[in-house]
Amino acid sequence: MRVVSGIQPTGKPHLGNYLGAIVNYVKLQDEAHALGGECFIFLADLHAISQPHDPAELTTNTREMVATLVACGVDPSKTVLFNQAQVPAHAELQWLLNGTARMGWLGRMTQWKDKAGKNREGQSVALFTYPVLQAADVLLYQATHVPVGEDQKQHIELTRDIAQKFNTDFCAEDAPVFTIPEVYTPPTAARIMSLRDGTAKMSKSDPSEMSRISLTDDPDTIMKKVKKAKTDPEPLPSEAQGLEGRAEAQNLVGIFSALTGRSVDEVLADHGGEGFGAFKPALGEVLVETLSPINARFMELKGDQESLDAILARGAAQAREHGLPTLDKAYKALGLVRG
Ligand code: ATP
Ligand code: MG
Repeated sequence: MRVVSGIQPTGKPHLGNYLGAIVNYVKLQDEAHALGGECFIFLADLHAISQPHDPAELTTNTREMVATLVACGVDPSKTVLFNQAQVPAHAELQWLLNGTARMGWLGRMTQWKDKAGKNREGQSVALFTYPVLQAADVLLYQATHVPVGEDQKQHIELTRDIAQKFNTDFCAEDAPVFTIPEVYTPPTAARIMSLRDGTAKMSKSDPSEMSRISLTDDPDTIMKKVKKAKTDPEPLPSEAQGLEGRAEAQNLVGIFSALTGRSVDEVLADHGGEGFGAFKPALGEVLVETLSPINARFMELKGDQESLDAILARGAAQAREHGLPTLDKAYKALGLVRG
């Protein structure tokens, strides 16, 4: 079992990142560890430069993201935790895979369409080729399991297509270079929506702080954001079916369900009939209960820059070693001469 996933240091991680991805990093890290497998979690700092960014903020966000992941339970003694920029094989393999990925495949990616909007001509080349770097990230380590939120499912399917085409075009049938990875999404909460708009996903890059709960928000901020979350005027239904067509209500009940480990129907059996004036404080409390210990641990870790950099340096050294054999095989399969 090889677990590989990444998160961009593009801002403070939020509840969507936590429930959609980080919870599964920790779960699969422990499963892999118990089975004698490996887990690789990386900060996608090379991906982060695909959008306009402030270099000083990227540096701060990178260190804070390490601190948050460790605070959430990613354990550097069980997981190879590193940043892409210290492992050149990611960028190298991306270039090799650029020969296999097709323009048409990338043009169909919904993240490209969403992030580029109407101004495609004005976007960086990196935003367009983002999924090829993601394929390199995953394939470099022969990943079997890739824990991601719903929005990244399409990119992992593309990763499978790229791997399959490369193996078919350049490898003997009994000696494929790449393992075909499986996507791993949570059964619930795979797509947490913005608190301001039930049709948009919660994102680090949303300009509104009020659209998301950051994992490092203090209890007052959490309560305030939940109270201000967009809702409709109807009381909660008593069964999940009644949430259809009510995107904001569905999102808040979904968050409550994921945080408490109870089904949506169980939550509604308790809270059905309540208006949001009653439900929101209950949700706020559950959020504070989950995030307070994470926040406390983050505060302890965040000041110790030396230790955070040491975690990344150690992880990067391990990642470089693990990635090399696959990179070599990919060069060789393509017929490239190297010393
Ligand atoms: P950005 O807006 O910069 O793209 P992001 O919030 O989308 O940031 P990423 O770093 O791109 O975060 O994604 C990290 C992981 O979190 C991915 O596995 C992604 O699928 C997951 N994720 C992101 N947003 C959500 C969400 N709203 N619900 C569930 N999972 C999410
Ligand atoms: Mg994203």
